[in-house]
Amino acid sequence: MWGERYDCLVIGSGLAGLFAALTLRDRGRVALITKGALEDSNSYFAQGGMAAAVGRGDSPDLHRRDTLAAGAGLCDEPSVEILVQEGPQRIKDLISLGVEFDRIDGQIHLAREAAHSTNRILHVDGDATGRGVCTRLIEEVEKSPQIDIYENHFVVDLIVTEGRCWGALALNQGEYRAFWAPATILATGGMGQVFEETSNPPIATGDGIALAYRAGAKLMDMEFVQFHPTVLYAGERRFRFLISEAVRGEGAVLRNQRGEPFMNRYHPLRDLAPRDVVARAIWTEMGKDARPHVYLDATSIEDPERRFPTIYRRCLELGLKMERDWLPVGPAAHYAMGGVYTDHDGRTTLPGLLACGEAACTGIHGANRLASNSLLEALVFGWRAAKAALTDAAVKMPRPAVPSLPAVRGRDALQRISWHWVGLERSAQTLRRALLELEKLDRECRGMDVEGLETANMALVISLVAKAALLREESRGAHYRVDFPKADPSWRRHIILQRGQDPALRPVDKG
Ligand SMILES: Cc1cc2nc3c(=O)[nH]c(=O)nc-3n(C[C@H](O)[C@H](O)[C@H](O)COP(=O)(O)OP(=O)(O)OC[C@H]3O[C@@H](n4cnc5c(N)ncnc54)[C@H](O)[C@@H]3O)c2cc1C
Repeated sequence: MWGERYDCLVIGSGLAGLFAALTLRDRGRVALITKGALEDSNSYFAQGGMAAAVGRGDSPDLHRRDTLAAGAGLCDEPSVEILVQEGPQRIKDLISLGVEFDRIDGQIHLAREAAHSTNRILHVDGDATGRGVCTRLIEEVEKSPQIDIYENHFVVDLIVTEGRCWGALALNQGEYRAFWAPATILATGGMGQVFEETSNPPIATGDGIALAYRAGAKLMDMEFVQFHPTVLYAGERRFRFLISEAVRGEGAVLRNQRGEPFMNRYHPLRDLAPRDVVARAIWTEMGKDARPHVYLDATSIEDPERRFPTIYRRCLELGLKMERDWLPVGPAAHYAMGGVYTDHDGRTTLPGLLACGEAACTGIHGANRLASNSLLEALVFGWRAAKAALTDAAVKMPRPAVPSLPAVRGRDALQRISWHWVGLERSAQTLRRALLELEKLDRECRGMDVEGLETANMALVISLVAKAALLREESRGAHYRVDFPKADPSWRRHIILQRGQDPALRPVDKG
């Protein structure tokens, strides 16, 4: 088998992976492995922007308070402190790398998003922040001789011997390739694709979480999945186009099939209520009218083409004019708060393995993510994981054995089960049913191509979400149990999952 040794592997070319690779580039040989093209990531599609306390009148303290409030009592406070304190410096790093944030009269323009107490969202090209930032970092990675880029390399499993990670095994055009390294950084992003409706592009199949779990690393907060209230219910279903919250921020109103605005019946903040409240309200209205969507009326927004150029163009491609037509919208799986448990330097519980970005669970987001904190997290903890990897890379490396390969299941059935039984509203009954069906699927189909291997990861990840959601007999943040609709103070704890172990409970502060 083809094999190559590196000082460090970075798996994933979203913001977390790109930034980690660039942080490492002067300190050793780095392999940047990604399963599609460098641009294929959630990061590339990020619209609204990046939160950081850089504005006049703002402070890390205010940013910390807003983040903790959104997290519904489950944030890891020291991690949040790191995020808000180090965030402004990482933004400066991006600017030195040539990222051009939007400015007005020479000053960086800061937008406002729901649940932020002040304007603190930096953005690029209006609503194309992810594309703007990633494009610049990709150019930088491509001209770095210390970084070897491996596109179209699907990481199948981690290489683990004697309780330590020594790299990863990847599949490229039918050929397995081993990448050995004393430090491996997982930056594989989220898992939105396990649900029938998602804003996430096809790469988001939870691979990194499945890889880490199979290798024995601990996972945390898997039951917390954020559902975005408004994706465009039109065009291809593989992933739905996101209609940013900022559109409601500018005055757009949700209406049901009869044309009635309905958010006044659900929350005093109406259309700008917290994401989980708006998503569940839409879900209820859709159920009442037995229709797969509601409408977003953005006709009152002045010059939407200038304010939201990307959204405007996408709507137009589908025959919808924002100033004339109500947009069909519905909720969709958007962001995983949980993931591979890490300390403050991105270290997982498996030596030699680090994680950052959406694949990781630093505890920053608690039970619900504050809008635009995830890109900042990818930067701050991508940087920290890279620094920690440098220390880990000093270990002498043996030649390890190659791991065995995982089994596979049917994807459409799996996405339906996830969406209906492990989605916005859950109960003991739906979760048990989901777990039974997933077990059946597991027995029925197997395959060995990339799609099959991804589906295996998706099945593992959603069954872990269902297990944790079944255990958490309360509603908190993005996790809503119809049979336990209130938050229960005794559940102010994290659920830790680890292969071969019973689920464990952990108090909120890591200490
Ligand atoms: C439509 C949309 C809009 C968003 N808008 C915002 C926003 O405005 N602000 C904000 O803060 N957040 C936003 N988010 C969330 C944010 O984009 C993500 O949380 C963040 O980009 C995650 O970055 P990441 O680097 O961890 O992962 P990603 O950007 O998802 O990158 C993961 C990488 O890992 C690779 N990969 C995965 N599995 C494998 C494997 N098995 N082998 C090899 N490579 C693999 C993928 O190909 C990809 O390159 C948005 C998300 C979406 C979907």
